[in-house]
Amino acid sequence: MAESGSLLAEPPAGSPPVIELDGVRKTYRTGAIEVDALRGVDLRISEGEYIAIMGPSGSGKSTLMNILGCLDIPTAGHYRLAGEDVARMSEDALAEIRNRRIGFVFQQFNLLPTLSAWRNVELPLCYAGTGRAQRRVRAIEALEKVGLGDRIAHRPNELSGGQQQRVAVARALVTDPALILADEPTGNLDSASTQDVLDLLGELHASGRTIVLITHEPEVAATAGRVVRIRDGGIQYDTSSDHPSDDADGPGDVGFGAVAGPGP
Ligand code: ADP
Ligand code: MG
Repeated sequence: MAESGSLLAEPPAGSPPVIELDGVRKTYRTGAIEVDALRGVDLRISEGEYIAIMGPSGSGKSTLMNILGCLDIPTAGHYRLAGEDVARMSEDALAEIRNRRIGFVFQQFNLLPTLSAWRNVELPLCYAGTGRAQRRVRAIEALEKVGLGDRIAHRPNELSGGQQQRVAVARALVTDPALILADEPTGNLDSASTQDVLDLLGELHASGRTIVLITHEPEVAATAGRVVRIRDGGIQYDTSSDHPSDDADGPGDVGFGAVAGPGP
């Protein structure tokens, strides 16, 4: 079973940052149109950090999340995950990371509509090769953890939006991943369900996981210990930096006065 404390089965000595991006660029080509979605991102995230990546629609947040989650590769630059260059990893190693070491949560929940809550939650364990009995036990445990022990047989359309997102959080944590990547997880939720999901992410962080929360909402971003703001594919501001970028856009003008520096 995966250890929640580390991303790789055998992390290199010296505990480098979990995530190191250097000069990461991403260009999408669609026919004759090229879009530079990321224009040279440098970013370090330490083990156990809770970081929000904030920025307007189209600024490159999901592109960044896909790269962090090894769902896509940079056009240029380097991505090291727990000290290893992702570009040099084997397909097997990447599949292991995606299936067992990272938990994903998306805005649209991405649940399979024909499957019950527990069948949805056990899916990552199917990919990881876990046996059927274990899968069921762990899926139900995960659903209990998110407060849905009484909804295990419900299908997505029999659940509220907030409950569906909690099923998605259960699915993200069922493999006991070291890193949780959440892309606008509260984007489709009302304020009560938003708070439920943020509370769950806070609990996952408190239990030692690294959390990357992507959002366009300043008040959601402000719940993280560190906020990185991106605009037009580049980092505009990082609250963990003592020296914000020279343009005038510090945290003061985005409502982050209260979140200076890393949190607990
Ligand atoms: P955000 O998540 O911040 O809204 P995205 O990372 O989704 O931003 O998109 C950044 C830019 O890249 C946008 O201009 C978008 O149109 C473009 N883009 C995103 N995904 C693709 C894709 N698969 N193919 C082509 N262009 C894309
Ligand atoms: Mg997005």
